[in-house]
Amino acid sequence: MKICDEALCTGCMMCAEVCPKSAIDYRTNVQGFWYPHIEERKCIECKKCEKVCPINIDNKYKKTDDIVAAWNRDKDIRLSSTSGGAFYSLAKCVLDNGGVVYGAALDASNEVCHKRIASIDELHLLSGSKYVQSNTGGCYRKVKDDLTGENMVLFSGTPCQVSALRSFLGKEYKNLICIDIVCHGVPSPRVFKDYVDHVSRKYSSTPQRINFRYKKPCWSVFSMKIDFKDGSTYTASKFKDPYLYFFLVGGGRGDLTLRRSCFECRFASPERTGDITLGDFWGILATSPKQKDQENGVNIVLINSPKGRAIFDKVSEQFETRWKNWDDAYHSNQSFIKPWSEPGLYKQFWEDYQRMDFDTILDKYYVYDRAIEDKKIAEAKSRAETYKNIPKMIKYYLRRIKNRIGL
Ligand SMILES: Cc1cc2nc3c(=O)[nH]c(=O)nc-3n(C[C@H](O)[C@H](O)[C@H](O)COP(=O)(O)OP(=O)(O)OC[C@H]3O[C@@H](n4cnc5c(N)ncnc54)[C@H](O)[C@@H]3O)c2cc1C
Ligand code: SF4
Ligand code: SF4
Ligand code: SF4
Repeated sequence: MKICDEALCTGCMMCAEVCPKSAIDYRTNVQGFWYPHIEERKCIECKKCEKVCPINIDNKYKKTDDIVAAWNRDKDIRLSSTSGGAFYSLAKCVLDNGGVVYGAALDASNEVCHKRIASIDELHLLSGSKYVQSNTGGCYRKVKDDLTGENMVLFSGTPCQVSALRSFLGKEYKNLICIDIVCHGVPSPRVFKDYVDHVSRKYSSTPQRINFRYKKPCWSVFSMKIDFKDGSTYTASKFKDPYLYFFLVGGGRGDLTLRRSCFECRFASPERTGDITLGDFWGILATSPKQKDQENGVNIVLINSPKGRAIFDKVSEQFETRWKNWDDAYHSNQSFIKPWSEPGLYKQFWEDYQRMDFDTILDKYYVYDRAIEDKKIAEAKSRAETYKNIPKMIKYYLRRIKNRIGL
């Protein structure tokens, strides 16, 4: 029995939590992604798993016009977050009021899983994007248990994880706030483990802290930073770091490590699963060129429900804000419009991955182009200088006027 079409299964890990016979566990495929496995001997064919799977349900989510560019006034929070540090303030508000927060954290063995926190001391564990699929196993039931109390529960994750939680709960809870992130897709836990082993061998030490979105030289040029146990540090931009390269860099080699379902993602749209949606506001680079410190990171915040509005209002004085529209939001953020396409090399890459070691995969698929890296970094740095942005801004507004009048 199949719970849903395997190519569309997002690995949300919710079906096991509804099975009355504990007949479902998760097994990794060759890419290291989790898929449900039913132990037929235990299954009573009640079809509960099929009925709640978000892939089998035509959920209707709404598109909001409440769109804000926001960045945290506290520079340390902003710099230690991926975008503008909106998540930190929203989560802190819930914790300050006695609530609990769920989100993705790296554990001591460098695996990414969803974690429940009840104290501000632990908030740093959930802050920052981890570019690996997060293991949500067991957390949906825990959220439900927390919701039986009076306190607020904040659940954050990819749109498919938020949709899974809503389907698991089956009704609205007044004390639940969901935050979904804008989502390009999730890379493979197997590749991440091989990468961690690779850097550990290369630098003769184990990673202690991994930052997937270090903001030096700047926010728009993604960089990896690893602090090793021996006190040494590694930093490299997405053009140089092989893990970010396979995830993000174009030239036919980006998106190689994504889960298959991400290429057909039904959540890559303006209709959002969260009460609040958070992402990188790439449009700010073109639309607010006078904002000199934009390269420290800016959030797009979509306020999708009255609950989202209420919590945002409580913390909004902690942010600089600018009101925006969908033209600005779509700018350079395809994840709002349609899923990313499966790259031409995807099948070959994974065939090779089965028979080659990580170093041989690098020899075959990774190409470091220093000239492109230098160019992109120089372009990003120049954005802070207003006068260099004016031609770009004029082009942007001309394009918008043309779109409006249908030219
Ligand atoms: C895999 C992935 C792809 C993304 N793709 C895009 C994109 O295409 N466009 C865009 O605008 N933004 C994207 N983002 C979102 C962006 O990187 C920031 O996470 C978001 O803007 C919030 O930033 P912040 O500064 O408010 O908070 P931060 O502190 O940076 O964000 C922390 C939040 O991210 C969640 N999170 C971190 N890692 C994961 C994970 N592996 N799985 C589930 N939740 C996670 C945490 O639970 C927490 O809610 C992506 C994030 C991830 C993890
Ligand atoms: S509930 Fe989630 S993990 Fe289970 S089959 Fe559906 S998408 Fe896959
Ligand atoms: S059909 Fe029922 S018993 Fe069988 S795996 Fe699904 S939920 Fe469990
Ligand atoms: S791209 Fe879609 S399917 Fe993939 S992790 Fe993100 S929300 Fe889930």
